[in-house]
Amino acid sequence: MSTTDESQRRSCVSCGLNIAGTNAAAFKCPDCGTQIYRCAKCRKQSNLYECPDCGFTGP
Ligand SMILES: [Zn+2]
Ligand SMILES: [Zn+2]
Repeated sequence: MSTTDESQRRSCVSCGLNIAGTNAAAFKCPDCGTQIYRCAKCRKQSNLYECPDCGFTGP
C-alpha cells in the first residue's frame, strides 16, 4: 500500500513551510476554490499568495 499522501499536504503557499499543526490560515482561492494555506508568519507580513492551481495571486 502506498500512503504517500497520508492526509493532505499542507504547506504555506508563500514560503513553502509545512504548516501542519501551526496557527496557519486556510482559505479558498477566490478564483478556482482550491484550498490554500498560509503560515502565520506570511500572514503577518501580508505576503502575496499564489494559487498552485490557477496562478491567482492576492493579498
Ligand atoms: Zn509562509
Ligand atoms: Zn486558484
